[in-house]
Amino acid sequence: MKIQTVGRRGVLFTFQDGDSVMGGETSVYLIEGGDRFYLCDTFLGSSFMNVVKDRIKESPRKDLVIFNSHSDFDHVWGNGAFGGCEIVAHELARRRMEERWEYDFENLERFRDGDVLKRLPNVTFSYRLVFEDDEIEFRYLPGHTLCSSVCIDRRDSVIFVGDLVEDPLPLTLWSDLVTFTESLKTVLKMSCQTVISGHSGIVAESLIRRNLEYLKSLFLGEEIDVEEGEETHSFNTKYLEFLHYEDKAREILGERFDFVQFKREFWQMLGVERESLKFESRLIRQTPSERLEEIWPQFEEQLKNRKD
Ligand SMILES: [Zn+2]
Repeated sequence: MKIQTVGRRGVLFTFQDGDSVMGGETSVYLIEGGDRFYLCDTFLGSSFMNVVKDRIKESPRKDLVIFNSHSDFDHVWGNGAFGGCEIVAHELARRRMEERWEYDFENLERFRDGDVLKRLPNVTFSYRLVFEDDEIEFRYLPGHTLCSSVCIDRRDSVIFVGDLVEDPLPLTLWSDLVTFTESLKTVLKMSCQTVISGHSGIVAESLIRRNLEYLKSLFLGEEIDVEEGEETHSFNTKYLEFLHYEDKAREILGERFDFVQFKREFWQMLGVERESLKFESRLIRQTPSERLEEIWPQFEEQLKNRKD
């Protein structure tokens, strides 16, 4: 792992490829304010967070505020490692975390690191939340997921963008690609000195522009020469199709929509064993679009006839 000082009060902890079962790299970012520490994301569990705790202990008598940039498991599973602190996130991040916790916890068990306790954000915001005394701002900037937001250290001109920016390509876990591009334009407009990505460390403005161009082409359905990132691109294309069906199911069921139930039943209809859901991203890439179209009418019928 790598520990790096950023600006006058930031510490970037980067878990590198090979440090976790997940592969690739992931960073969490700690900012030392006047009376409080702010920790952006908590990775996969309690053990990885020990190194952050040690750093916090060096400056006693400061509270900790955790910020979850979005609700994906690899950014929130370490929330439970810290007792008695506030956890801040966008209101939809709390909702999405609650919705999919059980599903991810069961299927992605192999990624757990030490203890993983379910601790949801207890302070939520809809547009932004500012700690004025420390000049720390959390702002809603959806894109990678519906619930994504960023942390801006106004004093040091640093922005932690979570998974909005990624090298070589961003993952699109939400269907609104136009809003995603708007969010990246907003990040560019802020022109912070340092931009930190959840999985690519400190990134250059040129990468944000390349990510933006990619999203535009993906939205327009253009032929994309991905060079690197072919796996991400094929996942994105397929995942957007899956999301389309998930959105339809949400529409049909309204308040009665249950994410875990939907996932299990949809995959069952596709003939996938529950055990195989451990490798869902591979399944998503491999399921032909025609298969989805084929099973949908029957699945839709099932949803419409549901009594409960
Ligand atoms: Zn992530």
